[in-house]
Amino acid sequence: MDVQLDLAPVGYLVMDENMKILEMNGMMRDIVAVETVPVHIHDILTIASRVYFQTYFIPAIITHGTVSEMYLKFKNPAGSVPVLMNTKKRNGLFECAIMQVSIRNEYETELLNAKREAEEVSKATAEANSQLKLLLGEVEAKQAELNVLNGRLKELTVTDALTGLKNRRYLEEFLPELMTAGSLSLLMIDIDFFKGINDTYGHHAGDIMLKQLAAVLEEAIGTAGFAARLGGEEFVAVLTAMDVAEASEIAEEVRQRVEHHAWPYRPITISIGVSVHNGNDTLAGLLNRADAALYESKNNGRNRVTVAT
Ligand code: GH3
Ligand code: MG
Ligand code: MG
Repeated sequence: MDVQLDLAPVGYLVMDENMKILEMNGMMRDIVAVETVPVHIHDILTIASRVYFQTYFIPAIITHGTVSEMYLKFKNPAGSVPVLMNTKKRNGLFECAIMQVSIRNEYETELLNAKREAEEVSKATAEANSQLKLLLGEVEAKQAELNVLNGRLKELTVTDALTGLKNRRYLEEFLPELMTAGSLSLLMIDIDFFKGINDTYGHHAGDIMLKQLAAVLEEAIGTAGFAARLGGEEFVAVLTAMDVAEASEIAEEVRQRVEHHAWPYRPITISIGVSVHNGNDTLAGLLNRADAALYESKNNGRNRVTVAT
């Protein structure tokens, strides 16, 4: 064999009409990893390729005298080697050029694997994203629930449990704000001789009276302001945008409603002290003046309204 063909970077072998190998170049010996030339093509083909060779190659080469790009596998100590083989019949012999395709195979397998991995990663990412979305939804729902609960809790902390009116804490928190917002007046309200109700009819009866008084106050005040319970049998009505005349008129209305209400157990009355926000006074000042006026109502015989000076 000429040197150039022996050293060519492609496998080359020649067979006779019985498929016995006559010649094999260096590259071909490398492909099948042999030192000496094997006797028959069958000696270097894998079993599957032998079947294929027998059923396709031989009829094709006899009929056409040429076979192109036949895919075969040669045996090799390291495993099998995939190849493409071109064969041409010349002078009664078969000349074959053999190109190893294992690198291309590996490359394609790698590409396939990479594609599969990419698909898996993108699937996992999509799943993670949708789970994240679910979690986010849950977190938002929980946050909304929490906000509602916090709102309710806040409501509870500024609400009197017995009467449902606003409590002292509410007044302390919001009255300064209301005072800066504009004119405002306070009715300080205390039940007359309330201790007697408890003493005669019991504490529970006293509670019922307190709840009813809360309802009567709210009705009497209407949209003019709101009522709050300071504690015990003391209440406050906060009236928005009232001058002295209007404030004492409403106070008188409240007093009369209480006097004429159909009370259980026995009738009660209230004493009221009125203070009108003078523009400079503090919450304490406003409360103190209303308190002083209430004290005056008590001293002057109860069941009456006194306006603070
Ligand atoms: P005055 O006309 O001077 O206001 O007399 P009073 O009896 O109303 O006043 P006093 O301050 O002596 O008594 C208030 C009573 O209110 C004492 C307490 O038993 C009662 N009281 C305070 N808080 C509650 C409550 O939550 N429920 C009941 N049932 N009674 C209460
Ligand atoms: Mg009292
Ligand atoms: Mg009292």
